[in-house]
Amino acid sequence: MSPIIDPINELLIAHGLRRTYAAKLVLGWFLAHPDTSYTHSQLLAVLAKDQHEELDKVTLYRLVDRLTQVGLLLCRVDVNRVRRFQAMPASVHAIPHFECQSCHRDSPLSDALKANANDLERAAQNALEALKALGYQGYSMDFAVRGVCADCATGESH
Ligand SMILES: [Zn+2]
Repeated sequence: MSPIIDPINELLIAHGLRRTYAAKLVLGWFLAHPDTSYTHSQLLAVLAKDQHEELDKVTLYRLVDRLTQVGLLLCRVDVNRVRRFQAMPASVHAIPHFECQSCHRDSPLSDALKANANDLERAAQNALEALKALGYQGYSMDFAVRGVCADCATGESH
């Protein structure tokens, strides 16, 4: 038998993450459920149910945040302003946008960044190519930058 390359291990290594039991479990779960967008607490519940094992809440939350930081998970804020996570999708063209944490407006970054927006898109596409090379399929992608928008930062009303 040829050695089996575990794509989850490969992804963790490629993103500088430790291959802990929890990291493999969480990333593996998201990749196995590419169309599912879960909140922290929904994830905690489903993992407890699937694995018959309760992960420490703080550990799980930190792990999800870390996976999101390195771009393996996508985080979106839903209409109730709750953060939802899903495996980073790929096929839809990434439209970099900015999510203001203060007024919760979501606006495209292309106007603000002009030519630099292309660099973001290229970086996103490179990440997708890496996933594709590992055999992942059927993804779409969303590229969000989170922070405080210029209006909120300067205290102007809008
Ligand atoms: Zn704002």
